[in-house]
Amino acid sequence: MDFLSEVIGEAVILSIDSLILGFCVKQLSKCKHILNALQTAPVLDIDNSLNKEINKYPNYVIPYVVVRGLVKPLGNPITSNYNQSVTGVIQRLIIKEHVIARTSAGFWSDQTRTIHEFCNSTPFVLTNGKYSIEVVDALAAELLDLDVISDKFEPMSPGVIDHVWGFFSGVRQRGLQTMEEMLRDGSYITAVGELSRTSSGLKIQPPKDGLPLYLTTSTKSSLLKRLASSRDFLRVLLVLFGSVAAIASGRIAYKYIKRRRRRQADENLKQQLAAGRRERRAQNRDKDLSEVQLCVVCSDNPKEIILLPCGHVCLCEDCSENIRDNCPICRERIHSRAPAFIT
Ligand SMILES: [Zn+2]
Ligand SMILES: [Zn+2]
Repeated sequence: MDFLSEVIGEAVILSIDSLILGFCVKQLSKCKHILNALQTAPVLDIDNSLNKEINKYPNYVIPYVVVRGLVKPLGNPITSNYNQSVTGVIQRLIIKEHVIARTSAGFWSDQTRTIHEFCNSTPFVLTNGKYSIEVVDALAAELLDLDVISDKFEPMSPGVIDHVWGFFSGVRQRGLQTMEEMLRDGSYITAVGELSRTSSGLKIQPPKDGLPLYLTTSTKSSLLKRLASSRDFLRVLLVLFGSVAAIASGRIAYKYIKRRRRRQADENLKQQLAAGRRERRAQNRDKDLSEVQLCVVCSDNPKEIILLPCGHVCLCEDCSENIRDNCPICRERIHSRAPAFIT
């Protein structure tokens, strides 16, 4: 059995574990980066002081900032499909299919699949009285807190044919869930992003250096707490998967060392047996041999081996083990060898 098949289980675990570990490390460094940026991000009020503050930064751009204000559409707001009295600036419609599917283990379990998702948005600002900041590219926000306006579930009543079909296909329809979420006109939210002042006014948008834009009902401190807890969770995962990697690598190393020791022991035993054989042969050999009968290499033992195809009988068995390639007499390549019995 070769070494790879001996450690295949550990190798598979180690490769899957390394992938997860790599992902965790990446997520953790991203999380720390955001946490640091958010900790140092200034919290600014949308008022007259904002212009003074932005003047302190080069090109009138504050890389990461926290502002709070009321959502107000710049044009006509979007009206909810399900509740005509609700208007907003971002609308998300999700249609989910609920099914009971048979798992590979043979159990039936509830599963949900999103079959359609649709987003709609209209330009809007965050305002606080007469001052306002336009929110650019709001749909790119990593955290976008929306209110659920409508959540309906329409169950399906399956017939006999559906039951039979479901039994064979392994999927039974339960119903459709239609959800509508909106960022309502007039809601008070926190925006975290890059704040800039251009000729058209103040804008908040996704930052350029990979930091996320947040549009949330949470405050800066609760955002920080949330990030810190996901950082801690990632650290726990890192320790967990790191230990799995260490155990798997340790087992591979242990098996490798064990295998090497075993081979070494086998080799030693083989050498010991060969030496014993050589000794026994030497004791049984005829001591009074003429010069021509002796091996051309050691001139000690009798000639015992015939080299083929050249046919020279010139070596003893011990020397023949060390001469692999060419006949020492005629230099012809040795293809095979056989014991020679000279009587
Ligand atoms: Zn010899
Ligand atoms: Zn030869």
